[in-house]
Amino acid sequence: MVNKDALERLEREMEMMEAWRDVARQAMDDELEVCAVCGRARDREHLVRCGACGDVFVCEDGLCTWLHHARSHPSTPFAV
Ligand SMILES: [Zn+2]
Ligand SMILES: [Zn+2]
Repeated sequence: MVNKDALERLEREMEMMEAWRDVARQAMDDELEVCAVCGRARDREHLVRCGACGDVFVCEDGLCTWLHHARSHPSTPFAV
């Protein structure tokens, strides 16, 4: 036999869990950076910060790093 009050309380708790999950998701988003070349949002650990630009992140897997460098500062030596 299902108690109506218990059911309502359960629904409220589920809503609260939903809300918490949104908060957690937003906190996770803070860990994401967008690659300046391909525009993909990735974990910070998969991106490298460009030493020349300071606050620009690009994918660590090579091509984006290279492309960013070739486009943004071709005159400085490429060193990652
Ligand atoms: Zn990229
Ligand atoms: Zn740069």
